[in-house]
Amino acid sequence: MANKNLDIIPLYEWGMFTEPRPSVVAGPCSAETEEQVMETASGLRDLGINVYRAGIWKPRTHPGSFEGVGAEGLKWMQKAKREYGLKISTEVASEKHVFECLKYGVDLVWLGARTTANPFLVQEIADALKDTDIPVLVKNPVNPDLDLWIGALERLNRAGIRKLGVIHRGFSTFDKIQYRNDPQWQVAIELRNRYPDLPFFVDPSHMAGCKDYIREISQRSLDLGFEGLMIESHCNPATALSDARQQLTPSELSDLLYKQIVVKDKDSDAPEWKDNIDQLRAKIDIIDENILYALGSRMKVSRQIGEYKKNSNVAILQTSRWDKVLAKVVEKGAEYGLSEKFLKAVFNAIHEASVEVQNEIISGQK
Ligand code: PEP
Ligand code: MN
Repeated sequence: MANKNLDIIPLYEWGMFTEPRPSVVAGPCSAETEEQVMETASGLRDLGINVYRAGIWKPRTHPGSFEGVGAEGLKWMQKAKREYGLKISTEVASEKHVFECLKYGVDLVWLGARTTANPFLVQEIADALKDTDIPVLVKNPVNPDLDLWIGALERLNRAGIRKLGVIHRGFSTFDKIQYRNDPQWQVAIELRNRYPDLPFFVDPSHMAGCKDYIREISQRSLDLGFEGLMIESHCNPATALSDARQQLTPSELSDLLYKQIVVKDKDSDAPEWKDNIDQLRAKIDIIDENILYALGSRMKVSRQIGEYKKNSNVAILQTSRWDKVLAKVVEKGAEYGLSEKFLKAVFNAIHEASVEVQNEIISGQK
């Protein structure tokens, strides 16, 4: 299902990002003062960042928190654009925000996670952006609802926005987890599979919630082949009025981008790479066939057992037997370097399917 109903202009034709990966949008969580906006911009420009971010209107969980400086901050952003030649970007959450951004020459806008979750607001923003050429990045909604995310993209695309991309920043969760937001990479991977040409950014800052995990998330995102990173950077994170724990100084960001993360090629044209990978994939295909054959054979025996239990009037489930099988599998599997978690997941799934088949036999459906 490739790019069925989105009409997208490729990222490197937007006039602000260039290869090689990662394309980076960086800047403070919030614009706070003119000095902070300018000092951070200058640090980021020096390390080769082209697209500067700063939140102007901040959606905060609790009232009374710092809610952004408002349109005044766009004047500081405009100054950073003029003096340092940066493209500037911010989050919009209403028609009014869009009009202010257009007035102050903002080059790119994004929809925040709370906004993407609200189709009324997305439609209002899409209508306000109609007939503009401004690139738009759509963060995932706070909840892991892929259709809601795609719906927002469709609304913008229908309004004529073709410089369109996404930002994966993870999902809210009630559970205590290591990160601030749960990555649920499978949701991002599913979106990439459905729309392989849709420019894809990851926001390790909001996913991590703290500096310590930004490197591992950025690396993961590059390993998955995503094009870009949106990273929060502040000239003095300790004094930041929002998200202080997760912001990097420009110099820390420089270390991350130029010393720590490793950019891997999406593919390679080298002939030996092609030969080797083709051979390895051919091996995997054969092994997969063997696995299927073994699963089919196992299921046949399972059916025979079902018939036998039916004729002997014996119950299907004998848990003590299954506990023993599983224990043996885990022990044996360890010799092949397979983890207990993996083996239990696979063999419990096999067992479940087998019980289901026997159940059908005994209840006379087969
Ligand atoms: C932000 O980028 O500053 C922000 C508020 O992010 P999110 O919408 O991902 O919470
Ligand atoms: Mn933030």
